[in-house]
Amino acid sequence: MERDVVRQTVLRPYIEILSFWGESIEDYLFVFDVKEQQFYFSSCIWEKYPLPFIDISFGIEDWISVIDIRDRSKVEQNLEEIKRGETDQVAMEYRMIDRKGISVWVNCVGKCVSYDDGKPSIIVGSISENVVSKKIDQLTGLQNQTVLEKSFQEILQKGESGYFLILGIDDFKNVNDKYGRKFGDEQLKKLAEIIDKNLEYDSRLYRLDGDKFGVNLVGYSKESAKAFYDRIKTEFSIQTYSNVSAGAVSYPTDVNNYHNLYQYAEDALNQSKQQGKNKLSFFSIDIYKGHLFFIDLKEEILESIKNDFEGFYIYYQPVVKNENGMLIKAEALMRWRSKQYGEISPVVFIPILEQTGLILEAGKWILEKAMKQCHEWRQYLPNFRMNINLSYIQLKDKRLMETIFYALDKANIPGSAIILEVTESIQLQDYSYFNLLFYQLSKKGIQISIDDFGTGYSSLGYLKELRVDEIKIDRCFVKSIQEGGYNSHLIKNMIELAHSVNIRVCVEGVETVEERTVLKKLSPDVIQGYYFGRPETPDKFYEKFITKAKEGQPIVDDGERKVVSEHNNMLKKNSQNYQNLLDELDYIIYVCDAETYELYYINKLGKKLTGVYDYTGKKCYEVFRRGKEACADCKMNTLEQGVFRTEVKREKNVEFLIKEKKIIWDGKLARLEMITENGEKE
Ligand code: C2E
Ligand code: CA
Ligand code: CA
Repeated sequence: MERDVVRQTVLRPYIEILSFWGESIEDYLFVFDVKEQQFYFSSCIWEKYPLPFIDISFGIEDWISVIDIRDRSKVEQNLEEIKRGETDQVAMEYRMIDRKGISVWVNCVGKCVSYDDGKPSIIVGSISENVVSKKIDQLTGLQNQTVLEKSFQEILQKGESGYFLILGIDDFKNVNDKYGRKFGDEQLKKLAEIIDKNLEYDSRLYRLDGDKFGVNLVGYSKESAKAFYDRIKTEFSIQTYSNVSAGAVSYPTDVNNYHNLYQYAEDALNQSKQQGKNKLSFFSIDIYKGHLFFIDLKEEILESIKNDFEGFYIYYQPVVKNENGMLIKAEALMRWRSKQYGEISPVVFIPILEQTGLILEAGKWILEKAMKQCHEWRQYLPNFRMNINLSYIQLKDKRLMETIFYALDKANIPGSAIILEVTESIQLQDYSYFNLLFYQLSKKGIQISIDDFGTGYSSLGYLKELRVDEIKIDRCFVKSIQEGGYNSHLIKNMIELAHSVNIRVCVEGVETVEERTVLKKLSPDVIQGYYFGRPETPDKFYEKFITKAKEGQPIVDDGERKVVSEHNNMLKKNSQNYQNLLDELDYIIYVCDAETYELYYINKLGKKLTGVYDYTGKKCYEVFRRGKEACADCKMNTLEQGVFRTEVKREKNVEFLIKEKKIIWDGKLARLEMITENGEKE
């Protein structure tokens, strides 16, 4: 009783201070009577929140009733701990539901000012919406990144696992542009509402930059994260006719710090967007590293170009006349060596140049360099020409013609010395635009060639619609053309069709003498490919190809290559005859690669005694000793070519004679081994 009086005396001045200060500050001040479990508040909190106002205080149940159901348990737990004397402070953020039913984030802090038996008896503190508002997104009322960072760190410390998702509205910029910001805001609010409704207690939703939301799905599995996304996606599209994409990252498996959490989830989201949107992608470290590689390259390329195209150079590949194999022109192919990664294929760096728009500068660079080179070689071969590749981005550039004409002047060559290669693609469908451009170029004598012909969009249609001078039939049609079949018919038809409308034909990617032989009869105009020559540096190009052309010789003598090819075929036939012969002998005989030990041949007896009939891809020690590596005493290295080494080995009272030597088998260095029982045979 006495104690109660004491408490009341302590309580009273605080309550008086409350009503005095309450009027003048924005935060809600409170005094909490721990024993009575009563809250006293400065004036007007019941105006905003639906608290039953009786006298100036209300009970704990009423207080709990205005707290968002998702945050109630942690508030109750804190109050319980105070009551038991386990803590004497309050410091937490939670959501309260206001009279309009809107959930409002508040920051509640409080401190014990009086104890009873060592337990807190009076707590004073404040409820602030302002402190939190810096961490709150004005539009959606959701917490922002600052809070995400803090709470994610707490979750990691607790050792919890789950999935973090970033969701974004597809084509949100278009929505804003088309229907206005207000409409866009409504969509954002709708998405926030749908996600929020689908969240479970422990999980949290945050507003991130722009149209993005972060959701921390604590304790979720991959499947349940996917199911969560599917629900949001369906509800959102039904309610707004818009789509939402997402990227997810698992913690702590994939990520164990905030910095990477955001980056990884965003990378996965970008992946979803790149793959057509309206989907969820899970983070993959390999894909991420690929993106980093890409970013690295991008930065380095930019640096290279700034430094006067450092690391860029050009290779030239010969193009010959079909009928006689004489060099008539070259294709200029761009090369780039990265300081970090070494040689990078143009298939990788050209798209980067295109994406960044740097292809305009790089394109200008190669035009000038290749034309200069052309000028040099025309001194030896006055009709020599140069094929130069153009990207569709260059084709759309208003200053293209100016660039080309300037380069021609600078190199001092006529327009007829160059042929511009443009890749067959959907972009070329704007016939009137391109025909005008090609017409203007043709007035200067510049020719147009359609690259990779046959691989793209409505190929044959081009020939009718576009005024071009040459088509380059893609390498994929050349492969195994000697076997007759589909490809050879197709090439034949393409050549005939192009010729019927006076378009020249170049066949690309000719690699073998067989392909060359068949193609020759189909009469394309020119041919290009490894068979005649690979792309080379200017010096090598001169040495290998120009010198021959100067002397009126073809690059490759078809006759010579034919003899080589026939010789190869003969050897193959011979080795078949050998094999038939070796099969008849009473020796175990085998042949294996001198370096890799891979078996090339086992004779009939060898197969019978080892029981191994299909030895393709197997090593000698696997078949003959059932071993995992080559014999320790294998004398392969000390063997001489052409000279037999003989050895006698004893195994289980039987003496074996082993003879071995190095030989050439089907053009490869190999070991021949013959085994027989000693003394029995000659
Ligand atoms: P492309 O224009 O079709 O160039 C032909 C490609 O085929 C070259 O690859 C060449 O080395 C390769 N090639 C030539 N003969 C054979 C053969 O017999 N067998 C095989 N397997 N390949 C052969 P490269 O130099 O790697 O260039 C790849 C692509 O990069 C080019 O394909 C072209 O689309 C692009 N590119 C290269 N340089 C430039 C350039 O300066 N500007 C633009 N826009 N693109 C370029
Ligand atoms: Ca080309
Ligand atoms: Ca091509």
